[in-house]
Amino acid sequence: MLNLSMYTLGSRRSCIRELFEYGRMRREIVGDDHVFDFSLGNPSIPAPKEVHCAIRELLDTQSSLYLHGYTTAAGDLSLRQAIADDLNRRFSAAVRPQDFFIGCGAAPELVSVIRALAVKNAEFLVIAPFFPEYRPFVENCGGQLVVIPPDIPNFQIDLQAVESALTPRTQALILNSPNNPCGTVYTEQTLRALAAILTKKSRLFGHPIYLISDEPYRELVYDGKTVPFLPNIYSDTIVCYSYSKSLSLPGERIGYICVPPQTSEHDGLLAAISGAARSIGHVCAPSMMQKVIQKCVDVRPDLRPYDENRHLLADALRSFGYEMASPDGAFYLFVKAPGGDSEAFSEKAKERDLLIVPGTDFGCREYFRLCYCVDPDMIRRSLPIFKELIEQP
Ligand code: PLP
Repeated sequence: MLNLSMYTLGSRRSCIRELFEYGRMRREIVGDDHVFDFSLGNPSIPAPKEVHCAIRELLDTQSSLYLHGYTTAAGDLSLRQAIADDLNRRFSAAVRPQDFFIGCGAAPELVSVIRALAVKNAEFLVIAPFFPEYRPFVENCGGQLVVIPPDIPNFQIDLQAVESALTPRTQALILNSPNNPCGTVYTEQTLRALAAILTKKSRLFGHPIYLISDEPYRELVYDGKTVPFLPNIYSDTIVCYSYSKSLSLPGERIGYICVPPQTSEHDGLLAAISGAARSIGHVCAPSMMQKVIQKCVDVRPDLRPYDENRHLLADALRSFGYEMASPDGAFYLFVKAPGGDSEAFSEKAKERDLLIVPGTDFGCREYFRLCYCVDPDMIRRSLPIFKELIEQP
């Protein structure tokens, strides 16, 4: 007999994967140049050269037993020290190596943190639009996902809605900035107001409400914008970071969880995160990648190709009359569907082999998502279709 909820999860593809597979099939029929696939957030700029130099140097100078052996479950101490030093330099964070758990990217890190907090009847708040995987992450450990409706058209946070949604069962709020799918960066003002509400409610309920900061896009911001370091604003913040996007290493599976020293129940929380990771089979993050990241801890991506694509696509779409969320970070545009129904609009676009993701699973049906980590030529060739679609909705 099968576990039905696991079977359902495994046999139904996400809407994004569905579109991506459809695109692959169409390319075989109509040719690469005639499919315009904006579905998947796979980085389109190569990993920085420092990463490849580090891999070569390690292979040339270190023993294979050292490079490929198990590490401690929480990761190499020297890597945790290097990351702590970097965060302390950049954000005056005052974090220590023992505040880190090196994980296999943001997804399993989020699952571990959520599981660590998933007491009976636990509620986890998310702000729409949100990364759809939060739903299975929360629901498959018995938690309840509570969705705060989108703050259209600013895509900041409807603070009043957050305040009303917090209950004594709320364990955490999951926050993602820069945001997938809308590309917005929450302002420091928004975050401080949110922190004040969480502090007030934590006191009222007599237990901490944690902020889980999902940060794979932290370094991907444009126009000189900055992403506030959340533990400096709200003391009960747990950071889930990933190198998937910042160093274009999504297949290597490496990142970290940081529980800063001031966090409530600090030691117990880290032990519970470690236990939750163990319960989903975590042994250690990829050993060689840990050594690579230690050497590349202060390497930042060259964002020019993303920034050029962002301008190319956003400027053209705006000139055709499309409205969108302010694209300040990550590599997504979140665009209002002409006619207000992104599912119908996505179907229409699909007839022209233009693949765009409806916002429904992100909690915002009126908008669709475009990934602009793609070939700029494909963007140029797709523009007449976008124009035609808005002119004949
Ligand atoms: N969180 C968000 C908001 C994402 O967009 C993604 C990946 O696209 C993840 C988490 C998972 O990232 P990782 O590859 O680090 O597991």
